[in-house]
Amino acid sequence: MLENIRIVLVNTSHTGNIGSAARAMKTMGLSQLILVDPVSAPDGKSSALAAGAGDVLANAKTVDTLAEAVADCGLVVGTSARSRTLSWPMLEPRGCGEKMISEVSKYPVALVFGRENNGLSNDELQQCHFHVCIPANPDYSSLNLAAAVQTLCYEVRMAYLNLSRGQYPENHPEGTEYPLAEDLEGFYSHLEQTLIKTNFIIAKHPGMVMAKLRRLYNRARPETPELNILRGILASVEKTIKNKD
Ligand code: SAH
Repeated sequence: MLENIRIVLVNTSHTGNIGSAARAMKTMGLSQLILVDPVSAPDGKSSALAAGAGDVLANAKTVDTLAEAVADCGLVVGTSARSRTLSWPMLEPRGCGEKMISEVSKYPVALVFGRENNGLSNDELQQCHFHVCIPANPDYSSLNLAAAVQTLCYEVRMAYLNLSRGQYPENHPEGTEYPLAEDLEGFYSHLEQTLIKTNFIIAKHPGMVMAKLRRLYNRARPETPELNILRGILASVEKTIKNKD
């Protein structure tokens, strides 16, 4: 179960933090580490700080973009130390652990961590279904990257242990099937292309429409058959436009 939980570090600057994150993961039983475009590849400093978690570090996968890292995931949670301009569905760390454990038997799930200096970009945060914030000291709420990884992996472990002790039922309704991140991304680009064709979005001045629509669909969290209906609607709009030309 824990093998399908992916820890994604985006554009990390300090190689030591990569090693410390690997150690934090292994102590909580997690092993899948993905590095998105790290500033430097893991080095001796990473290995030193990984200590007994050298295997997690050695098996870490490096990819170019966040989209690649989470394409096959059905649940993607982004972490953020501060609230952003466009507020997103939020989870508490405890609820985040429970949600990941309740869905991970269906598909891989991911927890995404940002850069040491400025976190995740808005574009990256918008690729996530939920955001989670560790409710730290409001006067100084930014944890070290590996400390944030440790805190959230601990919550995942607690949820996992509670489930194995049978302390709460899976809160994920049986039979609900959510689309993977790559299918959602496919829908968003189809939606954007269609709205450009109908001139609802002006390609040169797109504004915030797509960000707001992403938020709307994220909040509703369409199931796979519902997403298929939405794709069908877009196809029918495109067909009508074509027939008018
Ligand atoms: N200065 C950055 C904070 C970066 S800390 C900013 O303002 O966004 C590096 C990473 O650690 C963050 O991107 C996030 O992934 C994680 N992190 C740090 N503090 C956190 C908190 N309180 N809640 C959730 N994640 C946190």
